[in-house]
Amino acid sequence: MPQSPTPTASSNAPETYDALEVLAFALTAPNQRELSSAEIRDRIRELHEKAGRRRHDACRDLVERLAPLAGADEGALADAAHLCQTEPAALAEDIYALRSFASDPKGAVAVAEMQRYLTEAFVPKSEPELALDRAIAIGQVSFSVLIADRERAQRGRQSPAKERAVAEEEVAYGVFVTDPQRMRTAELAFNHFRGVYARRYEDFHAAYWTASSRLHARLLEAGREVQALTRLNSLVELGAAVGESTISAHEELIAATTACEPGADFASVLKTATACPACHLRLGAADHAEAVGAVLKRLSQSVEQQLSRLSSVAVRAILERSSDPRVERFLKVVQAAQITTLTEILDDELVGYLRRFLLEARISTLLEPIFDHVQQGGANDEAATREALEKLADVLHRAIRGAGQRPSDEGEPAR
Ligand SMILES: [Zn+2]
Repeated sequence: MPQSPTPTASSNAPETYDALEVLAFALTAPNQRELSSAEIRDRIRELHEKAGRRRHDACRDLVERLAPLAGADEGALADAAHLCQTEPAALAEDIYALRSFASDPKGAVAVAEMQRYLTEAFVPKSEPELALDRAIAIGQVSFSVLIADRERAQRGRQSPAKERAVAEEEVAYGVFVTDPQRMRTAELAFNHFRGVYARRYEDFHAAYWTASSRLHARLLEAGREVQALTRLNSLVELGAAVGESTISAHEELIAATTACEPGADFASVLKTATACPACHLRLGAADHAEAVGAVLKRLSQSVEQQLSRLSSVAVRAILERSSDPRVERFLKVVQAAQITTLTEILDDELVGYLRRFLLEARISTLLEPIFDHVQQGGANDEAATREALEKLADVLHRAIRGAGQRPSDEGEPAR
């Protein structure tokens, strides 16, 4: 983008700029020749057609963007130009780009690639110097500079004295100023930015993933708690499952903190890519420390909530009826709220046994009135019996559904 302000229009009133003047200027600069509408139309069509044969992405976008202009007749040029670009400077730069792709495709691709890198490189607020380097490079790398250098070199070969005179001019819609080698200066500014940016990015990428690996290890360690919670959640007699969103968040964070290893040629990859192609990490991005801390905290709270349900008087009274020594030990651990020991002893077999035991207790409570009724030889109350059986079916369905909620990893937690 040229930096010079334009004399014919303000950015507040883009519709009012004189598109034909801008087009004539950009098509002939730095020679500044007047062109009729027909000449403007013919030149644009010719350039558009030539640029249409280039394969670079930036050129394809440009050709597409300027299609309404290339298709417009003399009388419709201004309207079409406004349709393509609302700012005169942007319109002029598009014309310079068109001229560049038509006449110097190699140079044009180099400018387009530099512009792409500068646009894609994300510079966080915490890097003001890098932001300044980028702003300087953006200001210097443009198609108008490429055209100016090219024209100057051609004229220099024809008439060295005239070249000097034109080089002293400063004009609108472009940066045709005194520096005779502006493209070289622009490349230097670009290379400086890219060098600093790539080094900063590489260091940041390494530090970020080192920190993430530590978080990853903490999450893996908590895998046993996740497994214990999933097993406790399958005991539907304890009440609704708790911490299910925490269990999913834990899984997502495990994936998000799995370290990225970009390979030995990373530095050379960063000469064209502004971010790691594998993880797309943004320079300055925050790591997951806060989210991991919150998930681990919520996880412990969820396990504690299930423990407090298990240690409630009613559940304890049921479990104490069991003569199994494993249940006895389990109850002691629950009473002492020893989460670590709990995660060690709570395997599928024990949880299966607990589930069965709690279910049997619930069923016998449900059927108790019917047994009593039978014992007392009471009259047949069909409605009461059907109601008890419906409740029984509900309890069984719920128990079977709950038993289906197994920990994702059946064996040992992942290490
Ligand atoms: Zn990466």
